[in-house]
Amino acid sequence: MNFNNSEQLYKKGCEHLVGAVNSPVRAFASVGGNPLFIDKAKGAYIKDVDGNKYIDLVLSYGPMILGHRNKKVEKAVSRALKKGYSFGASTNAEITLAKIVCDAFPGMDKVRFVNSGTEAVLSAIRLARAHTNKDKIVKFSGCYHGHMDAMLVAAGSGLATLSLPGSKGVPAQAVENTLIAEYNNLESVKAHFEKHNDIAAVILEPVTGNMGVVQPTDEFIKGLRKITKEHGVLLICDEVMTGFRSKFGGAQEIIGIEADITCLGKVIGGGFPVGAYGARNEIMENVAPLGGMYQAGTLSGNPIAMAAGISTLTELKKQNPYNKFNVVAERIEGFLLKSAKKYGVALTVNRFGSMINPFFTATEVKNFTDAQTSDTSKFAKFFWAMIENGVFLPPSQFEAWFLSSSLTIREMKKLEIAIDASMKLVANSVN
Ligand SMILES: *Cc1c(COP(=O)(O)O)cnc(C)c1O
Repeated sequence: MNFNNSEQLYKKGCEHLVGAVNSPVRAFASVGGNPLFIDKAKGAYIKDVDGNKYIDLVLSYGPMILGHRNKKVEKAVSRALKKGYSFGASTNAEITLAKIVCDAFPGMDKVRFVNSGTEAVLSAIRLARAHTNKDKIVKFSGCYHGHMDAMLVAAGSGLATLSLPGSKGVPAQAVENTLIAEYNNLESVKAHFEKHNDIAAVILEPVTGNMGVVQPTDEFIKGLRKITKEHGVLLICDEVMTGFRSKFGGAQEIIGIEADITCLGKVIGGGFPVGAYGARNEIMENVAPLGGMYQAGTLSGNPIAMAAGISTLTELKKQNPYNKFNVVAERIEGFLLKSAKKYGVALTVNRFGSMINPFFTATEVKNFTDAQTSDTSKFAKFFWAMIENGVFLPPSQFEAWFLSSSLTIREMKKLEIAIDASMKLVANSVN
């Protein structure tokens, strides 16, 4: 396989872009080599600038749940383009998408659209503080909630991949109200509750994707809902990754809880920049213009992005691929475990709906500490072998692989072969 054009663009890109990428997760820091430059994509496949074609399990880190260039979405976007790009005034499309989203989440009466998951979270945290008149936020190590200052501690995959403990440039004051707890460890939350009486909210990924896929135990998540209620602390579910991905709606319903505030992003924009936060009326009424919590956006509710979101969610509801996702993920898990066993490679596979994650460790992965026992050099070898075998994966041990509804039996056969060949290579390489 040749990557000459990607290599050239990488060199050229480094001149005026930082590391030739606009998000560090796209850099190949932990797997070595240069990042691939993409030319185009269609359905389940993505093509790089050297003409190499891959089954795409990155899917723009989640948004492209229908696969690339879905016909319905493309039509809706083209139609919207012809009416104008941005108005700085309300449109009917915002009302339509708001209804689809609120109908899908039982705890959501109103929603505010923003432009990214980061914006959704930073607004949700401001809202929690406005509603409770308290300042402290409990977050879990390994959970990622976007790149706002207060959330850039123990923040999962992007930082872990680059071996960064946190971010430079974040003032100590910006994180002094952030309390860190351990995922799946209710006692670690209770300890904060006993010590502090000024906690506004607990935020978590209800199923994580940013330390790899980790599900909450029933005891942890139900207990968390119970103690937050008892203490008058809001529960913020960051469903930027899980929203509409493993069920129409969020992970909340599958795991049996209801958040006070829900953050969304990724899938709801169908590949365009959309984020959202929503809650019950009494909470959302704090937001300007109804209340005193200010949050604004020039391009928020952009008509093209709304058209992409409406058509993506409408098509998703119609296709209802969620059972299929479970079947496909189970098969991929089967391929991974079979090959790992055959070649004697230590492997733990976690999955949730259309998110799947092989960790190169024998340890069961229930939190970030467990995830970090993974052999990332083995992952790097596996990653490049998968590329050579025509499968594009996120270049990090701690990122989930994403499934799209475009995958067919043909891709499953290719995946089985690629996984087997890649696992063999991992087993055979010394160190
Ligand atoms: C991706 C992600 C974010 C950040 O969203 P951006 O659109 O990248 O700003 C926040 N929270 C979670 C859980 C995410 O997966």
